[in-house]
Order: sequence, then structure tokens, then C-alpha cells
Amino acid sequence: MAEKYLKNYINGQWVEPVDIKYREVLNPSTDEVIAHVPLSGRKDVDFTVNMAKEAFESWRSVSPAKRCKYMFRLVELINENFEELSGLISYEEGKNLVDAKAEMKRVLENAEVAAGIPSFMMGDFIEDVSEGIEGYTIKQPIGVFGVICPFNFPAMVPFWFFPYAVAAGNTVVIKASVQVPLTMSRIMELIDKAGFPPGVVNLLNGSRDVSDAMLDNPDIKGISFVGSTSVARMVASRCSSSGKRYQALGGAKNFLIVMPDAKLDKVVSSLNTSCFGCAGERCMAASVIVGVGNIYTELRERFREAALKLIVGNALDPEVDVGPVISREAKERILSYIQQGIDDGAGLVLDGRNPAVRGDSSGYYIGPTILENITWNMSVWKEEIFGPVACMVKAGTFEEALEMMNSHSYGNGGSIFTQSGYYAREFQYKAKVGMVGINIGVPAPAAVLPFGGVKASMFGDIKAQGKGVVDFFTEKKIVTARFYNEDWN
Ligand code: NAD
Repeated sequence: MAEKYLKNYINGQWVEPVDIKYREVLNPSTDEVIAHVPLSGRKDVDFTVNMAKEAFESWRSVSPAKRCKYMFRLVELINENFEELSGLISYEEGKNLVDAKAEMKRVLENAEVAAGIPSFMMGDFIEDVSEGIEGYTIKQPIGVFGVICPFNFPAMVPFWFFPYAVAAGNTVVIKASVQVPLTMSRIMELIDKAGFPPGVVNLLNGSRDVSDAMLDNPDIKGISFVGSTSVARMVASRCSSSGKRYQALGGAKNFLIVMPDAKLDKVVSSLNTSCFGCAGERCMAASVIVGVGNIYTELRERFREAALKLIVGNALDPEVDVGPVISREAKERILSYIQQGIDDGAGLVLDGRNPAVRGDSSGYYIGPTILENITWNMSVWKEEIFGPVACMVKAGTFEEALEMMNSHSYGNGGSIFTQSGYYAREFQYKAKVGMVGINIGVPAPAAVLPFGGVKASMFGDIKAQGKGVVDFFTEKKIVTARFYNEDWN
């Protein structure tokens, strides 16, 4: 693929940033420059928001059913270009083709679910709240929304929000991650082809300057953010002080608890996918594996054996299980976590620091790594590593394992592997996480259900995707109405 200079998509036009500044985009599998991405600034943001604000005035009065027709057309176009888009994700983000296709399927699901907006936008009606008086709610679009995206799901994260926002009659400004701008640029070409009116969906490329200007712009009525916890917390606090709506999804440290009665074959294959799929750069990746009771030693050995078989290499190679991490900096950060863990006394069950790479090894590769003998004061326990590193711990009982998970500051996902309905139910009932898996390694909810965590994994109370997110993108107006008979005085 030829190296190219990307543009922003504003008000139906592809345009350069006002200050002509660009940054290189690197292929994480090869360390080669694959594109140049605009570093947009405040002037670009303010201009785009103005255009989106203007577009809102007419878009809000297009009927919901008609707004959905654009979404149906977009779904068709994405389906037609499914293989190309999946390849683009692998190319710029580094997840393998299986994971990239799974991401694209979730993109389609979200666009399809959002097309249910004519039902989701229905209000409530009650006759005779008092004599001759009716009460009812109507759900109205609000205006311009901002969507700020992380690097690890270049296509899916925007689709957790923008289809619902625009189907509900709002207009949006999407800020792609500067590390992975190609996929969303290509999808914008399809959005353009689907015929959405100018200004309804806009794409800005750039780094934190763009987020800052979006957070400061009073015409942006709400922000959907996904990224690390420190930035999510800052976004939540700035939105709340300026009166914007927000949903800010942050980092994670997901526990996977293995009970003595678990089906070990299933556990081990789930662990490989959950800990090392997407090179561990998935907010639903399992990163702490708790073996309960006497299962620990066998679990560790079988997990290690299975992880050793995983093939590390270029994300576009169909044989590859584990692609590179996103950047040289990310690789260095992950390696320093591993080293810090070892210095703090962790045992190295599997060392992925110098992996055998299939083919060219100039990308940012780290192989599957497993640590054990972890204590609660270690950084590898407390912090999100966001790489192919699993920490194993032992627990004497289910209660002890649950307490480990519940006392952690993060609360995105958590899974239990057991054949016992009792422990499964106890786990579901008591887990302090937003998304629970029962014999599921990556409990990422289907698009029709909400997606989001608790504690430091999410700020705000309306989760992403599904019909629930429609509440974020609409204002409930409550009407109390009475009509007089013409004969009444
Ligand atoms: P990040 O926080 O570095 O960046 C996210 C977005 O915020 C990017 O668009 C970036 O340009 C912008 N940004 C970064 N620093 C900023 C600042 N100081 N001010 C304003 N904007 C800023 O996250 P990332 O490295 O791109 O993504 C990985 C993180 O995202 C991980 O922590 C992962 O757990 C999290 N994540 C969470 C979920 C979830 O559902 N909870 C899903 C995907 C990713």
C-alpha cells in the first residue's frame, strides 16, 4: 500500500488541517512509515463544530426512519469492503486478521442495532394524569457530540457511539487516534458514499490538542471518550465542570478465576485468546489469572505449554496468532513492567521478551509472557500493562479469589470458569465489574447490550452501545397537556 497524506473530513469535504502539520504513521509489524496523519488544532475543531452545529438544524427534523436508511446503506458498503477494512486494521494496529475481522463484525452489529432508533426513540404516554390531562415524554436529539477514540479498536470504538448519535438526530465530530487513522479515514469514504448530508458525520485527525479543543468548545454538548484511566478521569472532570454530558471509558485489569471443577481444555484455549489475542491490547483482555485450590499447578503448566505454541509475527500473516504491540514506546513500557515485576520478586513462567518472530522481526514484538508469585504491592498487579503479559496467582477459596478481584481499583470485566451453577451465580451477583463472563474468556457484550465497566474503568453512568446509549444522545422532555372544550369559559 502506498504511503499517503491523510485529510480531515469536515462538512462533506476532505480538507487539510489549517496549520499544515503532519505526523508519521508507522506499521507496527514492520516499523515502516505507511502514512502521514494531520495534527489538527483548535481552529480545525472550532470550524468543524460550527459546521456540525449548522447541519444539526436540518438533520434533527429528518424522520428517524429516513435517518436509518443512510445507516442501512453504510452497512451494505461496509459489508462490500469487509476484507479490505479488516486488512487495514491489521496493517495499522497490529492485531491479527482473525481479531480484525471480529472487530469489523462488531462494527456492523452496532450500525445494525442503531438502525432500531425508531423504536428506541419512542417516549411514554399516560392518559388522565389528572382529569382531562395527559402526560408524556418525548426523546429529542441534543446537538453536536464529540467521540474521542483510543488506538486499539480503530473501527469498533467509533461505532459504539456515532451510529446511535446520528440515528437519534445529532451530528458528530469523531477524533481518531493519531496512531491508527487509516481505518476510520477509509470508513469515512464509505460514510460519504452512503450519502449522509454534509456536516452530520465529521472526522478530525490529531492528538491531544484536538481533544482539548473539543472539551473546551461550548457547542459540543457531550463527549464519548475511550482511552486510559488518567485521561478518562480528566475528560469526566472537564465535562462535568463545563456542563457537558460525558461517558468516559478507561483502563482495565481483568481477572479470570479458574475453579477446581473448570473444564481445563476450554480454560486454556480461552486464556490464549484472552491474554494474548490482540497482543493483550484489549480492554477486555484477561491479565490476572487466579487458580483456586489445587488446580493452580496443572493450570500453569498447561497454559504455558499452549502459549508456547502461539506464533508471533506480522499481523497480516494468516498463520500469526500474536501480532506486534502498537509502538516502540509501548514495547519499551511493557518490557519495563516485566523487568520491574522480576525485580520485585515475581517468577517468570514464560519469557516473551525475545520472541521467535515468524518472518521479518523489525516490528514491535513481544511474545506471550506469564508471571507468577505476584503480590499486591507490585506494579504488575496494580497497574494496567496493556500487552501480552499474564499474571498468575493462587487463591485458597472462591471467596479469596473474589476478594482479590473486587479490591482492585479497576472493574471492567471479570470471568469465572466453573461447572458449578452456585459459584457462577455467586460470581455474577458479587463481582464488582461491569461485564461478567461465565466460562467466557473475553466477555465483551454483543452490540445490543451495553458495554462498560465500573470503578476506575468508567466515569459516567451511561455505558457504550446498544439501546441504552440512546439515553446519552437524547434529552427526555416531559409534556403535561390539557385542551379546553371550545364551549368552556
Ligand atoms: P489514551 O488515553 O492514550 O488516548 C485515548 C485518546 O485520548 C486518544 O485519541 C488520544 O489522542 C487522546 N489523549 C491522550 N492523552 C490526552 C490528554 N492528555 N488530553 C486529551 N486527550 C488525550 O489511550 P490509548 O493508548 O489510545 O488506548 C489504550 C487505553 O484505552 C487502555 O488504557 C485501554 O484499556 C483503554 N481502552 C478502554 C476501553 C474500555 O472499554 N474501557 C476500550 C478500549 C481501550
